[in-house]
This record gives sequence, C-alpha cells and structure tokens, in this order.
Amino acid sequence: MDILENYSLRELNSFAISANSRYFVALDEVQEIQEFLEIDQYRALPRLILGGGSNILLSGDFDGITIKVNVMGKELVSEDDDYYYVKAGAGENWHQFVLYCIDKGYSGVENLSLIPGNLGAAPMQNIGAYGVELKDVFHELEAVITESGEPITFSNNDCVFAYRNSIFKSEAKGRFIITSVTLRFSKKHVYNTSYGNLEQELEAMNAGSLSAKVISEAVCNIRNRKLPNPAEIHNAGSFFKNPIIPNEQFEQLKEQYPDMVSFKSSETDVKLAAAWLIDFCGWKGKREGDAGVHENHALVLVNYGKSNGSDILNLSFEIAESVKKKFGIDLEREVNLV
Ligand SMILES: Cc1cc2nc3c(=O)[nH]c(=O)nc-3n(C[C@H](O)[C@H](O)[C@H](O)COP(=O)(O)OP(=O)(O)OC[C@H]3O[C@@H](n4cnc5c(N)ncnc54)[C@H](O)[C@@H]3O)c2cc1C
Repeated sequence: MDILENYSLRELNSFAISANSRYFVALDEVQEIQEFLEIDQYRALPRLILGGGSNILLSGDFDGITIKVNVMGKELVSEDDDYYYVKAGAGENWHQFVLYCIDKGYSGVENLSLIPGNLGAAPMQNIGAYGVELKDVFHELEAVITESGEPITFSNNDCVFAYRNSIFKSEAKGRFIITSVTLRFSKKHVYNTSYGNLEQELEAMNAGSLSAKVISEAVCNIRNRKLPNPAEIHNAGSFFKNPIIPNEQFEQLKEQYPDMVSFKSSETDVKLAAAWLIDFCGWKGKREGDAGVHENHALVLVNYGKSNGSDILNLSFEIAESVKKKFGIDLEREVNLV
C-alpha cells in the first residue's frame, strides 16, 4: 500500500476546496484496511474516511490520514421467494450501481438515481430522494472497527436510520469503516411515483408503461434540470437538512407566513422546506467572494472557483443566523464538516 504525504484533496471533494491531507492512502481490499489499521505510526492520527467526497466540506488542511475506501465488486448473493439480496463494495459508484440493478431487474433504488458518491457513504445519511430512502431497501452492511480492525455486521435496525441520519453520522461517527452494503429488492416491488413532479415528468416523457428504467430516466431528467453539476459549479448538494418542527409551532408560523412550504413528517411533526426559509431571507443567488448560494436553489451553497472551506462555512453561519432570527428555527448542517 502506498501511503502518500501532503496529498491534495482538491480533486476528491465536490466543493473543489484546495486542501491537503498530511497522509493519504487508497485501500482496495478489506484485509488491506485491517492491515493498515495495525500500523502504529498512523493509529493515533485523526482519520478521514473518504468515498466520492460529495458530502464533505473541508474547512482547511487535514492534519491526519485520509483513507479512501475503494473496495469494489457487486453481485447477487442470495434470493428467496420474496427478495433478491445484492451486495456491493463500498467503493462502487452509487449511480452506476443503480443502473446495474435496473439492468438486472432489481427494482427499488430507481428513485435514488444520480445521487453522487459511493455505496459506502450511502448508509451514513440514509440517502434519500423522490420519496425513497436507502433504509427502504437496506438489508445489512459490513464494516471494520477502526480501533481494533475487527469485522462487524450491522442490520437495518442496528443502523438507526432516520431522515438524513444514521448511527454512523451521529454517536458512532468515525468508529467504523463501511466496506460493503447488501440491499434487499422485493420481487413484488411497487413503483413510487407520487413524490414532487415525478408523475408530471413521466407524463411529459410519454413513456408508456412504468418500469424502473423509465422512472430512473425521469428522475435523471428532473435532477439534471434542477441541480447544478458539481463538475461545473462546485457544490455538495443540499447544505442543510429540512428542519422538523412540532405541529403547534408550525401552526403559529403558518399564520404569519401562509406560503411557507411544508410536508407532513409524522402525526406530531412537520418538515419545513429549508430552501423556502433561506430564500425568504433573501439568500438565493447571493455571493460573497467565490462562496455563494446557487441562483436557482437556495439550499445549495457553491464554490464559484477559489473559495476555501471557511468562506463557505462562514456563509452558512450567516444563513443559519438569519433563518433563526426570522423564524426561530435552527438549521442543521447536512454536509459533513472536516
Ligand atoms: C449535486 C448533489 C446532489 C445530491 N443529492 C442528494 C440527494 O438527493 N439525496 C441525498 O441523500 N444526498 C444527496 N447528495 C449528497 C451526497 O451525494 C450523499 O450524501 C452521498 O451518499 C455521499 O457519498 P460520498 O461517497 O461522496 O461520501 P463522502 O462525501 O466521501 O463522505 C460523506 C461522509 O461519509 C463518510 N464515509 C464515506 N465513506 C465511508 C465509508 N466507507 N465508511 C465510513 N464512513 C464513510 C465520510 O467520512 C463523510 O463523513 C448530493 C450531493 C451533490 C453534490
């Protein structure tokens, strides 16, 4: 294994922040990860476990070791009367995996098409889009315990999945390196087209009968129109989570702001569109140097070129402060700060 020093992470994060990692290693096999974790020289250093780099904000140079997880491979590992079980390495690209599933006839991840990043990070925040979350198809994952190098398996319940959250993003952050993920695809899958403008897009496409492939194409069409491509305008998707508040608080806010965009979250709570709150505070399209808020999407912070991590972080603090002042609501960061 090649352990590199003072390694530039600019090409490895979708914000394209110029920052160096003191050490960097790319590991292809589970055994290699375990061997690496035994090397005394690096054991005490802070670790950054890296996938596709599409959900991190590098606040500066990283004085530790970046471990890029490149474990590959995807296969049908078993099936029963009701399900196919498909396992994939943490280093596999998520969207390529979605296309592979569609090609093989495994339906359930088509709504999650075109989400950037790798398989290994998908459980981290229980990726979600168009009414589907990873937890809906998740079976189990394999990981390595960072302190001991021992392998460990997590079931769906063990992961404590929630909206853009899991045990790996909260109390167990940094304690495990995810090496593979196994998804469970129902043989009686029911397509979900009720979210947002998916139905309209399908009608406009005039695609005829529903299939995972057609839904995936519709999702890709919408996403390509709506979201800035990180290769052209550097960003990490939604910077903040949509806040969830109790019904009573929402009723009070709704009296004052009748147009406030919201979705039912549970019997007791309402999920607010963070983009609407930020837009209402006048941030959409604002720019401070090379750090800015995308002109079409208030939830997406962008690096227009030479912005560093603290420029973007400071901008995010200003945004959160103004939302707090106006609505009394705390915005929580979705992006992982490094
Ligand atoms: C344009 C755009 C659109 C997006 N749209 C969506 C969307 O619709 N829905 C959604 O949920 N997300 C979305 N995202 C966010 C992002 O794509 C997902 O969070 C994705 O899962 C991140 O994968 P990654 O491999 O790039 O993770 P990274 O950015 O590399 O890592 C993210 C976090 O996971 C940890 N991590 C990574 N790999 C491992 C591993 N193997 N083991 C342990 N920890 C690990 C990292 O340490 C870090 O804390 C979007 C991002 C962009 C840029």
